[in-house]
Amino acid sequence: MLSVLYTEEENEYREQVREFAERVVAPRAQEIEDTAEYPRDLLFELGKAGYMGALIPEEFGGTGLGMVAETIIAEEISAVCAMLDVTRGVTSVYFAPPVYKFGNDEQKGRYLPPIVTGEKMGAIGITEPDVGSDTAGMKTTAVRDSDEFVINGEKRFITNGSLADYMLLFAVTDPSVKARKGMSTFIFETDNPAFSVVKDYDLMGLRGLKVSHLKIDNARVPASSMVGEENKGFRILMDELDTERTSLAAGAVGYARAAFEYALQYSTEREQFGREIRGFEGVSFKIADMAVKLDAARLMTLQAARRIDSGLSATRQGASAKLLACASAQEIATAALQVTGGIGYTKDCKTEQLFRDARLMTIGGGTTEIMKYIIQREVYKERGY
Ligand SMILES: Cc1cc2nc3c(=O)[nH]c(=O)nc-3n(C[C@H](O)[C@H](O)[C@H](O)COP(=O)(O)OP(=O)(O)OC[C@H]3O[C@@H](n4cnc5c(N)ncnc54)[C@H](O)[C@@H]3O)c2cc1C
Repeated sequence: MLSVLYTEEENEYREQVREFAERVVAPRAQEIEDTAEYPRDLLFELGKAGYMGALIPEEFGGTGLGMVAETIIAEEISAVCAMLDVTRGVTSVYFAPPVYKFGNDEQKGRYLPPIVTGEKMGAIGITEPDVGSDTAGMKTTAVRDSDEFVINGEKRFITNGSLADYMLLFAVTDPSVKARKGMSTFIFETDNPAFSVVKDYDLMGLRGLKVSHLKIDNARVPASSMVGEENKGFRILMDELDTERTSLAAGAVGYARAAFEYALQYSTEREQFGREIRGFEGVSFKIADMAVKLDAARLMTLQAARRIDSGLSATRQGASAKLLACASAQEIATAALQVTGGIGYTKDCKTEQLFRDARLMTIGGGTTEIMKYIIQREVYKERGY
């Protein structure tokens, strides 16, 4: 049924990524969950297979296959190991594409090839202790001093923060106007002596993922590390977020699919009252609801991805995909846990982990409430209000 949504090449590509995910990633997933150790080597494997560079052209080492391919990768990797796809996405979807789209030739040549191979890791620094949903209230500053900038501030909840070699950092360069008009973007190299990791957070789920609180105390960076024009960083941020949300939606489809498949199989094996539990509507209707939500989430994600590949705005569609796919992933994970009963509440059963992992999805990359804000704003704008 899915094949009608995708081209033959896209379907074949999915088969390839799925085979890789099952052969290379799946055997490691439980170990990552049990030890919470970051699987650095798997990033190299993803790079070798070409799954770090769908949004980067061949000239810089990527495959240039585009956003639909990227969503296929995100779904397939997430379906077997959600944390691996989050760390992959941060470096190859959130860090690299803005450098490619807005950076100069020197920046592209220097930073993109090692990211695409997995040799170097990227992060994106937007959120701060006092600044979450309201990104325009950013407080980190970058003050020009001849051919350098001096950066001061703290960034919070930065995925890959304590591991990344480079961070795409957003900072205020003109405090006399609102950050929207006075924000710039930098490639910040984390070997800067003024950079420190305050801590890695102990997360509810996605074990093994490093999400950090970072501090930058009088860091001097060359003016040439600025991406795009001075004070034009907000546009880069908005552009990046459309791609980020679409990729997050695809990841959510992956988590949801894993929970759905698990519950489906369990419902055909577990017997109560002398019959398989799938024979009770209370169970099988949950399976029906999950299947519908999964299809809808994938369709919305595909719509946003196709718009990005066509060079069209995907602000509403990316936010809509994220809203629906992330809420659906949580609902599906919750229903899957219900179908698996008591064992589903224990670490003997995969649904316990999927339930925790999926919980992030309506928060990270912009909350459900903020997605609704964006969608209504775009709906009115599209109609000229
Ligand atoms: C595991 C994890 C990884 C992350 N990775 C990164 C990363 O790599 N880089 C990065 O920069 N950030 C990252 N984040 C930060 C993430 O994007 C923010 O947590 C998110 O945007 C929400 O910001 P906040 O946590 O400050 O919540 P707040 O903005 O304080 O929001 C708190 C509550 O108020 C609601 N709210 C706020 N404003 C409004 C409004 N106008 N209307 C209605 N409701 C509103 C929110 O929806 C939410 O329910 C990560 C977060 C987590 C948990």
